[in-house]
Amino acid sequence: MIDFSGHRLALDRKEKDSDLDFVSHAHSDHVSAAKSAKKIIASDETVQLLQAVRDIDTTGRIQSELPQGVQLIDANHILGSKQIVINDEQNGIRLVYTGDYQMQESRASRRTETVSADIAIVDSTYPSPSVRFDERNAVENDIQHWTSSTLKTGIVLFGTYALGKAQELIMLLNEAGISPVVSKKISVVNSVYANNGIKLDYVSAYDDTDADNVFRGNFVGVVENSALDALSVSLTNFYNRKVFTAVATGMSKIYRFRTDAQFALSDHADFSQCKEYLDATAAKKVFTYGPNSAILAQNLKTDGYNARPLHKGENISLLENVQTQKAD
Ligand SMILES: [Zn+2]
Repeated sequence: MIDFSGHRLALDRKEKDSDLDFVSHAHSDHVSAAKSAKKIIASDETVQLLQAVRDIDTTGRIQSELPQGVQLIDANHILGSKQIVINDEQNGIRLVYTGDYQMQESRASRRTETVSADIAIVDSTYPSPSVRFDERNAVENDIQHWTSSTLKTGIVLFGTYALGKAQELIMLLNEAGISPVVSKKISVVNSVYANNGIKLDYVSAYDDTDADNVFRGNFVGVVENSALDALSVSLTNFYNRKVFTAVATGMSKIYRFRTDAQFALSDHADFSQCKEYLDATAAKKVFTYGPNSAILAQNLKTDGYNARPLHKGENISLLENVQTQKAD
């Protein structure tokens, strides 16, 4: 939690006694605070996703005017994802919190914005230098080539997150001339993307009149990870055709999935991207955030960064940091 100008700001998770909650984006592991927060700071797109996808009623709880010195800047992750910047001009100190982010640009992703800051709080999803993501455009090409050629011999099923990765996959498939069949939940998310100007070409398995036509030939399906195995079995039995399965996740660099193909397409920063981000901020003090924060802090320290984990319930006071900086 951050103490600044009389506010107590929680970052993506529930904290006792907070009066403001920043929701960086609408992935399920970042919305716990949004359910009960008194006031929510989030982008318009995130608010739309909270309501349509997470079923969270935000009525009357959105902080429409940001407190003085607070600014939201783009984080390249999913639709609406933002970082929060707190600029205490009077005391000359600036803090930035990333939420989930990545630094690579590609046809399906923009670059994350960076600002100079005294304190940076960074996500720690991939904390180890041993995980290095490949060039994103190359991974995207691999997905397109594998899908196009595999489709000649059977049905292709991708298991993925319904929010964010599914839409990137659909975008890549569309570029390769493929209009995939998607699950109900993914089509709900797609509607929010469409409302924000990101048009995707797809067939909804549940309410699209084209679905029967598509099912006559081989097709590509994009479904939630949890549905992949069962759906693969039932489609094989029902159509008596070969079903090829695939996943597209950064975890492909760590785990071997029981699928025909796996692609390390990630919406997160790996360790080297994290360092690239921190170098761009030139932060003197780094707090790592989230489940792998201890490992990330240790690895950053080894590479000369002044880093430590920010624990749940722990408070960062901007004013105290000004005092310590002056003492330094
Ligand atoms: Zn996320």
